[in-house]
Amino acid sequence: MLGYGLSTHCFGSEIIIMTQNPPFPSPEELKSKLAEFMKTNFGDKVSFTAYTEPETVEAGAEEKPPRLESEQFVFDFLPRDIKAHLDRFVIQQDEAKKVLSIAVCDHYNHVNFLRQLEKQDAARAEETEYAKQNVILVGPTGVGKTYLIKHIAELIKVPFVKADATKFSETGYVGGDVEDLVRELVDKADGDVQLAQFGIIYIDEIDKIAAAGNMVGRDVSGRGVQTTLLKLMEETEVPLRSANDLQAQLQAAFEFQKRGGKAKRETISTRHILFVVSGAFDRLKQQVSRRLVQGQIGFNTETRPVMDNELFQYVTTQDFIEYGFEPEFIGRLPVRVVCEELGADDLYKIMKFSEGSILRQYERAFRAYGIEISFEDEALRLMAAAAALEKTGARGLLTVWEKLFRDYKYYLAGSGLSQLRVSAELVREPKRVLDRLMAEGHKQEEAALEQSALVFAERFGKEHGLEISFDESARARLIERAQAERMTMPDLCAHLFKDYQFGLSLIQKNTGQRNFVLNRAAVDAPDKFLSDLVVQSHYPLAPAEKN
Ligand code: ADP
Repeated sequence: MLGYGLSTHCFGSEIIIMTQNPPFPSPEELKSKLAEFMKTNFGDKVSFTAYTEPETVEAGAEEKPPRLESEQFVFDFLPRDIKAHLDRFVIQQDEAKKVLSIAVCDHYNHVNFLRQLEKQDAARAEETEYAKQNVILVGPTGVGKTYLIKHIAELIKVPFVKADATKFSETGYVGGDVEDLVRELVDKADGDVQLAQFGIIYIDEIDKIAAAGNMVGRDVSGRGVQTTLLKLMEETEVPLRSANDLQAQLQAAFEFQKRGGKAKRETISTRHILFVVSGAFDRLKQQVSRRLVQGQIGFNTETRPVMDNELFQYVTTQDFIEYGFEPEFIGRLPVRVVCEELGADDLYKIMKFSEGSILRQYERAFRAYGIEISFEDEALRLMAAAAALEKTGARGLLTVWEKLFRDYKYYLAGSGLSQLRVSAELVREPKRVLDRLMAEGHKQEEAALEQSALVFAERFGKEHGLEISFDESARARLIERAQAERMTMPDLCAHLFKDYQFGLSLIQKNTGQRNFVLNRAAVDAPDKFLSDLVVQSHYPLAPAEKN
C-alpha cells in the first residue's frame, strides 16, 4: 500500500512526529509496490515486464540526434539481387526464392513511391490504393522458410520478428499478443520507430488457426485470431506501449507529466509492414488431389507424396477457404509459394555449399580445442542420409551432427590430437574410431612433449655453456608430470630446474664437469638431486648417489 505514513525524526532526545503529504513515489518504488500488490492478489498470474525506453523524447543531453535522411531506410534492390543473396545460404527452394524476391521488391518499391509522393502530395499518398504483397509460404518444417525471410531482412536491413500463430490462441489475449509483434519490431530496430514501420513480421504455424473445428485453445477461435491478424495486415495504428503492460503505461504517464502534458507520438502504423505467414498445410494436398481426380485434369497426384510447386499451381483461394480460412484473411495474402521437402541430396548440398552450413560451426567448435576438422564427401553423404530419415528437413542435420560428435568433442578436446578427418568409417563406427584416435592423440601429445623437453635441454646448453640431457626415465616422468599438472613442457622444466644453472656451474668449477645426465630422480626431486651432486663435487669421497 502507498499509505500516508507518519515520519519520525530524532533531534537529540526530542522526538518530533509530523504528518506530511507523501512524496510521489518514483517509478521504481511504484513498480515494486504494485508488483507486491499484484502478487498478493493474483499470485503469479500477473507480472511486470521489464520496461525498455522506446524512444528518447526529451530535449537535452540524452536526446538522440535525429536520423539523417541518408541513414533512413533505403531500398534499391532488384529481385535478382535478392535471389543471388539467398542462393548463398539457401539450397533449393528456387521458386520460393524467386517469388519472395519479387514480392519484397514490389513491396518496398511501393513504399519508396509512397514516401516520395508523401513529400509532394500527402493527400494523394494517403489515397493511393495498393494491395500489399503479403506472403503465404507452404511447406514442412526445417526446409528454409524462416531462413529465407531472415536472410532477406538482413540483406535489406529491416527488423524481422517471428512468432507462432498457436501462441495467440493459447494465452487468450489475442489482440495484445498480436500487437506485441509490432512492438517487438520496434525493439529489434533499437527503438527506431521509423525503421520498424518497414519491418517484416513472420508468423509460422498459421494452418493451426484454420477455423475448422473452430475452438482453438481456451476461448479464442482460430477465426478470432484471423480477424485480429487481418486488422494488422490491413492498415492500423498500434500503440507503442501495450495496454496490458502496466509498467509501460506508468512510464508513459510519468513522461507525459515531465513534458508538461505534451504528448509525443505513441503509435506505429502497420501500413508498410510486410507479413509472411507459413505452415505445413498437411491436408491441402489431399484436398487438391481429390479435386484434380474428380475433374479429370490428368494430373497424377499419386506420384507426389508431398505438396510441391507443380501441384500447388492447382491450389486456389477456395482451397484455403475450405481449409478453414476467412476469405478476407486469405485475400490479404496474395503471394503464395511452396518450400519443397528436402531430400538427402539437398541436405548434402546444404552441408557442403551453404554459407551458413553447420559444417562451419563445427569447424569453429573444434578449432577452439586446437583441432582442425575436415570432411570426406562420403561421410557427408552418410550424414545427409541419416538426417533425411529424421523427417525434419535440415533440422535433422543438427540432430545427427550433435549425436555423432558429442563424444568427439568431449574426449578429443585436450587430447593432443590436432587433426580430425571425418571419414565414412567414422560416421559408421564412431565409437571404434574415437578410441583409436584417442590412443593416437595420446601418442602425438607425448611425442610433442618429448620434443619440447629436448629443446629445453638444448637451449640450456647454449645459454649456459653446460650440457644437460634427460635419460629415458627422466623423459617419461617429465611427460607424465606435464600432463598431470597441465603445464607446458618449457614451463615445467623452467620451474623444476630453475637453480640448475647456478648449481651445475659450481660443480663445473669444482670438477671441470660439463655434461650432466638427469634421470627420473632429478625430475621428481630436482633440488635434492642437485644438492647431492654439489656435495659430491665438494667431497668426491662421499658415497655416490645411487639413483
Ligand atoms: P522452417 O522451414 O521450419 O522455417 P528453418 O528455415 O528455420 O525451417 O530451418 C532451420 C535451419 O535449417 C536453418 O537455420 C538453416 O540452417 C537450415 N536450413 C533449412 N533449410 C535450408 C535450406 N534450404 N538451405 C540451407 N539451409 C537450410
